[in-house]
Amino acid sequence: MSGPQCSCGAGAELREKILAEAPRLGPGDVFRFACHPGVSCYNRCCADVNIFLSPYDVLRMRKRLGMDSGEFLRKYTLLPVHKEMKTPAVLLRMNDDAAKTCPFVCEKGCSIYADRPWPCRMFPLGLAAQKDTPDGWQGERFYFLLKEEVCQGFHEAREWTVAQWLEDQKVDEYDRWGEPYKELTLHPFFEGGGVLPPEKLHMLYTACYDLDAFRRFVFESTLLERFEVDADFVEQMRYDDEELLRFAFLWLRFSLFGERTMMLKDGAIEAIKGKPAQGG
Ligand code: SF4
Ligand code: SF4
Repeated sequence: MSGPQCSCGAGAELREKILAEAPRLGPGDVFRFACHPGVSCYNRCCADVNIFLSPYDVLRMRKRLGMDSGEFLRKYTLLPVHKEMKTPAVLLRMNDDAAKTCPFVCEKGCSIYADRPWPCRMFPLGLAAQKDTPDGWQGERFYFLLKEEVCQGFHEAREWTVAQWLEDQKVDEYDRWGEPYKELTLHPFFEGGGVLPPEKLHMLYTACYDLDAFRRFVFESTLLERFEVDADFVEQMRYDDEELLRFAFLWLRFSLFGERTMMLKDGAIEAIKGKPAQGG
């Protein structure tokens, strides 16, 4: 399918409406839906939509396109900024044409289908939670149907349970990578009203989204001299984006929130006394 909606990107008003009115679906609930080139609306949903991208979405898309992460972010994303923003919100940038088409839609459908982002995989399902707390997503979250008027897929005969749909769309691996990011963005620091200074907010964005820049920081700064990091892990993250993202989550929990996810090497405390750690 070519998925047009992002449940996590819903505005406050829409979120309230979903929580109050949307029928809640569990893994065994059934819905009718099919999306294929034969539907009259084919590709129409891949335009003028807000698709919020997770770090793993960006990792997959830029790898698919063989692009440097910074180049991908500059070309294909927007980073809206407003005063209340506590963590980065990265939006897929639509084309600058009248229809505001997605840059990846083509006649045959989504040109990056195997690496399309999470919201596109999920559609027509949305995911919501009564309360977004670090542990509140567990047990309180529910699925709901995003019934877009334009979408003719709901008139098709094919039936799915929610669980079958999620498996078919390979949502699992995206959810696995979404959890550690959620732990960061829904951290008690923020829940308690904490606000990161601009340089730390920038670090959060860079480490999660601009992995090529983060890799340069890891390997070209003194970070690896100062912290205990397993040698195999170091070699893996030199080339493997997923390992590097795994390290980024550990580093951020240490450097932003002071969690004990990283260990200083003996003597490093003395060595850096008086000098602020790079990026932390
Ligand atoms: S990424 Fe693919 S599925 Fe998602 S909106 Fe763009 S073309 Fe459609
Ligand atoms: S059936 Fe729905 S999801 Fe598929 S192309 Fe049409 S509007 Fe998009």
